[in-house]
Amino acid sequence: MTTLYWIRDDLRLHDNPALTWAASRGEVIACVLDEPAYPGSRPLGSATAWWRDRSLSRLAANLASYNVPLYRLNGDARSVLPAFAATHKVSAVCWNRRYHLSTIDATAKDTLLAQGLEAHSFAAHCLVEPHAVKPFKVYSAFARAARAVLQDTMQPALGVPDLHGPGAIAWEELPSPGWAASLAEYWTPGEKAARDRLASLDLSDYDKGRDFPARPATSRLSPHLRWGEVSAREVWQFASALPTDASSFHSELLWRDFAWHRLYHVPDLATEPVREKFRNFDWYWDGGGIDTSGKDSRPHPLPELQAWRTGETGIPLVDAGMRELWQTGYMHNRVRMVVGSFLTKNLGIHWRHGEEWFWDTLVDADPASNPFNWQWVAGCGDDASPFFRIFNPQLQASKFDPDGTYVRQWAPPLSPPPIVDLKESRQAALDAYQEIR
Ligand code: FAD
Repeated sequence: MTTLYWIRDDLRLHDNPALTWAASRGEVIACVLDEPAYPGSRPLGSATAWWRDRSLSRLAANLASYNVPLYRLNGDARSVLPAFAATHKVSAVCWNRRYHLSTIDATAKDTLLAQGLEAHSFAAHCLVEPHAVKPFKVYSAFARAARAVLQDTMQPALGVPDLHGPGAIAWEELPSPGWAASLAEYWTPGEKAARDRLASLDLSDYDKGRDFPARPATSRLSPHLRWGEVSAREVWQFASALPTDASSFHSELLWRDFAWHRLYHVPDLATEPVREKFRNFDWYWDGGGIDTSGKDSRPHPLPELQAWRTGETGIPLVDAGMRELWQTGYMHNRVRMVVGSFLTKNLGIHWRHGEEWFWDTLVDADPASNPFNWQWVAGCGDDASPFFRIFNPQLQASKFDPDGTYVRQWAPPLSPPPIVDLKESRQAALDAYQEIR
């Protein structure tokens, strides 16, 4: 009996419920699907596309060591998957669930069942599946409910299953674009690197140090979690076993779950403000859209937006963050909040422009956390930072980068004059907010 395992955002062998189920039935073959942008979804950004392909190559090699072939397919899951399953005479198809394209998966499942095949999906991406608790709009209430579910239901992480397949096939890695050379200096995609990073997780400075961008206090696991190279469950359990208290780290993992929970209930999170009154807020918006065929360096018609993207605003902490992002595909969380506040409040530019830029350039960009956090920063999301909380990037720098280490590492040595007056633009943002209140 051969089972087809459909790989999505779960590029790992460890703690993989769908793969474990497939292995328990006999021979396994695996496929990955380059899907079109369905209504309501969009193509991967350039940095995540780069990551996914490098990670897939490593997964293909790992599967090949068990004689499991990995096929690269192209097209709509609803038709391609059933056709492939029929051609390869499999008796069952399985996958780990995702929470933003559930109708596509449901249709694919129905078609497979109608063909007389077994089709099963499993929980693997979140700690608590979005539908396992009632809908919450406030993080603290969600986290309480999620922790209760976890306490009752969490199982030990699974090991690598006893896999075998009919024989590996050649896997061709897509060429790495030239701009990605700098990403490769900072990151190694793939399950091994994810597990190495987890093994070196040290939370001893997490509580005090995680807001300081120059301190190596956080895990840097986000792109590995994004692609499921390690499971959130395994990360949670590993952190629990450390000698230091893991509760604030666990809370951050639950923010990730909360973002998926919100996306599950609000599918247009990336395009519509969750809070109604922000629909007519006077943000600058030019229709958006980034050329996802490669990193987009076209000049933008709005010079302030272009200066923000390229780290030339003359505000050192903002410029440092935007340059760290461009160079490494990552930006420290505190600085993400600062550059987001600066874009949406001091520059008055629509949060969607920021979200789209991050979507294209972050190696950890995901369909839930990115729009969720942008709406949080802009003040228009659920349980968001209030609009009137406008980060002052100079105060933030003196508090969280007091000796300037982070700014010196990333910002240009000679800062251009600021493109905006922080005090006046803050007042203008507050006045605009008064109008919609
Ligand atoms: P750690 O502090 O070590 O946290 C552990 C894990 O918890 C992270 O790897 C991540 O999976 C999760 N996590 C932590 N903070 C958050 C959060 N606020 N929301 C959701 N999950 C969180 N994170 C993404 O993974 N993808 C995104 O596209 C993304 N976009 C963001 C956009 C903005 C404007 C902001 C302010 C934040 C965004 N974040 C996003 C959240 C956060 O900045 C990153 O998860 C974090 O910086 C990753 O670094 P780390 O792995 O060292 O985090």
